[in-house]
Amino acid sequence: MTTVLLPHSVPMLRQEAMSKSIIQKEQCCYLCGTTLLLEQHHIFGGSNRKLSEKFGLKVYLCANCHRGSAGVHFNKKLMNMLHKIGQRAFELAHSREEFIELFGKNYL
Ligand SMILES: [Zn+2]
Ligand SMILES: [Zn+2]
Repeated sequence: MTTVLLPHSVPMLRQEAMSKSIIQKEQCCYLCGTTLLLEQHHIFGGSNRKLSEKFGLKVYLCANCHRGSAGVHFNKKLMNMLHKIGQRAFELAHSREEFIELFGKNYL
């Protein structure tokens, strides 16, 4: 009889911990509600993408609402709406001053 020791302590390198969205609990498109072809959208992109990740300022969007011709990345109004939602969510736990200091802008 052999005893096999499973390496429980080996860190799962490929499954890097992702922060949870503080805006959305359900895994469905934030805009149209579908559960198909979901992608994660960081509300504040560019240099603020890391901050979006850190604070969970992300939503699920389907490929169409995300990168489609009328999706958030091509629709300033939608992008602006999500920026406001993101800032409001941040301000539930932090101050506006903190938001502006971190993200460099006030969307509200
Ligand atoms: Zn959608
Ligand atoms: Zn995106």
